[in-house]
Amino acid sequence: MSTAFSNLIDGHRVDAGDRAPDINPSNTADTVGEYARATAADVEHAIAAARAAFDGWSHTTPQQRFDILDRAGTEILARKEELGRLLAREQGKPVADGIGEAGRAGAIFKYFAGEALRQSGDRLDSVRPGIEIEVTREPVGVVAAITPWNFPLAIPAWKIAPALAFGNTIVFKPAELVPGSPWMIADIVQRAGLPAGVLNLVMGPGSRIGAALVSSPGVDAVSFTGSQEVGRSVAEAAVRTGARVQLEMGGKNPLIVLDDADLPTAVAVAVNGAFFQAGQRCTASSRLIVTEQIHDRFVQAMIERMKALVVDDALKPGIDLGPVVDQRQLDKDLEYIDVGQKEGAHLAYGGDRLQRATEGFYLEPALFTDTTPGMRINREEIFGPVAAVIRAKDYEEALAIANDTPYGLSSGIVTTSLKHASHFKRHAQSGLVMVNLPTAGLDYHVPFGGRKKSSYGPREQGPYAKEFYTIVKTAYVAP
Ligand code: NAD
Repeated sequence: MSTAFSNLIDGHRVDAGDRAPDINPSNTADTVGEYARATAADVEHAIAAARAAFDGWSHTTPQQRFDILDRAGTEILARKEELGRLLAREQGKPVADGIGEAGRAGAIFKYFAGEALRQSGDRLDSVRPGIEIEVTREPVGVVAAITPWNFPLAIPAWKIAPALAFGNTIVFKPAELVPGSPWMIADIVQRAGLPAGVLNLVMGPGSRIGAALVSSPGVDAVSFTGSQEVGRSVAEAAVRTGARVQLEMGGKNPLIVLDDADLPTAVAVAVNGAFFQAGQRCTASSRLIVTEQIHDRFVQAMIERMKALVVDDALKPGIDLGPVVDQRQLDKDLEYIDVGQKEGAHLAYGGDRLQRATEGFYLEPALFTDTTPGMRINREEIFGPVAAVIRAKDYEEALAIANDTPYGLSSGIVTTSLKHASHFKRHAQSGLVMVNLPTAGLDYHVPFGGRKKSSYGPREQGPYAKEFYTIVKTAYVAP
């Protein structure tokens, strides 16, 4: 019998009659735990608790908020091996990446502990004599934080930490597929000294729990990370209730490789960006746009490197890729591998289901060549270890192909030309631009987010997080 994990509402563990198992994708016989599935009534209870806690929490001193966030960050960092193993076990990313993500989550709490102290405002003279004006920031209120399954420690951290630092209360709804790591974050933050009701955790299916949350008039702001399709419905619901909304969604990120690129750098950057974490990163490079002279050498070197990639149980040290997250994602990846071939692309390497010692969702990373920008594999987000090479005549054509997408999260270029690198930084239509670096892998102290259909609303993370988690007040004083 595996352990049962409850929702957290108003400072209490609230059990639910209904629970869902958290299955290890490296070994489907292994159940990580049984996680509560909240009801719509639980969601209302959580929103009411967050509302009741808001007045007290929003009037705490910056020192009190610093202390709690700092303590939470310290515990996360001290337990990063344990948290990273749990993450790898329930999500399937290599344990080293899981530990890295736990470290990042801890660092995010430390950063936003500092942000609680770094308050500022403006004092101005009015255009009318004798009147003074102050422009200050206040918390927004009750924030709904809705997160996906691919970064189940880091993304909750980068929503919960700033929301708390700036004095908001939270109802947190993680992805149902990977609830263990988010549960640990909520537990650690609660025990760091939060008053009851400031952080509430409701787990369960998005269609029921997430939808109930975003359609409630009791929520003042919704921070969502997930797919474009769900993001759109979240935004529509938020507009109806008048809640402020921030969406981070999918990507179809291009990586350009120019003739003058250093080949080993190009291969290392492309393999990392396209396949690491089984391609299940919103910033993954799924379109590799390669110019004529280097194309064949690049493809050959990619295939050689891919042959050496070790795909195995996420908890085994030294692996390159774990399994994909579940059967549904595996079926989707295999379907796109089929679609690509039917569209006339050449499957140059991989794409087979792999058998390992335990039953899991193992997939050999796949590389397509001879693809065109209009193919579905080059337009739709697959979210698996599948990348397509597009041949381009020169830099100008490569840039045009890179920008020809409804998405705009991340983009990259591998080149030794300062001229092309500088031009690309200015003209790539994406929120993140990487030169000689993978399109994925971001720092925690700078803004993160995309353009076009990838993002909506203010940026997350770094000093820019306050744009979403605070509201500006302009106060006039006549002596
Ligand atoms: P998803 O959209 O299926 O789910 C995201 C969250 O929304 C989950 O918690 C889910 O339960 C909830 N949800 C589902 N239906 C809902 C509804 N009707 N109302 C409210 N909430 C609802 O996404 P996913 O499969 O968990 O994650 C993968 C997606 O996330 C990919 O598209 C990926 O690109 C994207 N992603 C984006 C970023 C980014 O920062 N841009 C980061 C990570 C992942």
